[in-house]
Amino acid sequence: MRKKIVCGNWKMNLLNSEAINLVEKIIFLLKENPAPKIEKIIAPPFIYLNEFSKKSTDIKIAAQNCSSENNGAFTGEISAKMIASVGTKYVIIGHSERRNYFSEDANTLTKKINLCLENKLQPIFCIGETLEQRTSNNQFKIIKTQLAESTFHLNETDFSKLIIAYEPVWAIGTGKTATKDQAQEMHQFIRKIISEKYNAEIAQNCSILYGGSCNASNAKELFECPDIDGGLIGGASLKAEDFVRIIHSFPTTKS
Ligand code: PEP
Repeated sequence: MRKKIVCGNWKMNLLNSEAINLVEKIIFLLKENPAPKIEKIIAPPFIYLNEFSKKSTDIKIAAQNCSSENNGAFTGEISAKMIASVGTKYVIIGHSERRNYFSEDANTLTKKINLCLENKLQPIFCIGETLEQRTSNNQFKIIKTQLAESTFHLNETDFSKLIIAYEPVWAIGTGKTATKDQAQEMHQFIRKIISEKYNAEIAQNCSILYGGSCNASNAKELFECPDIDGGLIGGASLKAEDFVRIIHSFPTTKS
């Protein structure tokens, strides 16, 4: 079901007390100024998932990653089943930092998506082209390949559980946001390839988020685009006021 979503990806930031302060401040600001129709998600480091997932608030919790293995002798890994067991609802899969720094390929990401779905976790699947791929005009080919390789094995019911995040790698953490035209063009393209693979209804119902230097100043113009259903927010999600301003950046007719 297509939803308006803002998800904060905290990455490897915030000590325990800082993380608690930030989430409490976000809860406080949202109590003062609620956004009931927006799905609000926070993706803290693994170590905070248990405590955060048990808070009684309408903020949902996501893991930033999960293991591609089910269980067993994989020291340091955390399985989808464990994530689900503490009440977490979502898992970010295929973030460009995981692809680049941890060499996660399409096969690994496919296994992670399958394990999330088996454990009733909703994957937020990230795709995005590098600057070189865009300057050589290969962005559409890359996005289609990334989406198809890791998700097009799914049947209609399972594909419908995915949230897609379009995150151009050149825009992540760089302060260089895609223009609203670049973002809308790619989101429309993603919806078109989903429609061609599955059908128009599945494409229309799919939530597609934009990520890449989205902040409190530019979220409004991005969220006004017809095919952009919200944002995956890195840096700006670490400041409660900015994150809540982003949550309130949808046009009133859409929120
Ligand atoms: C991200 O890491 O998913 C992201 C979009 O980061 P930033 O907002 O900092 O560019």
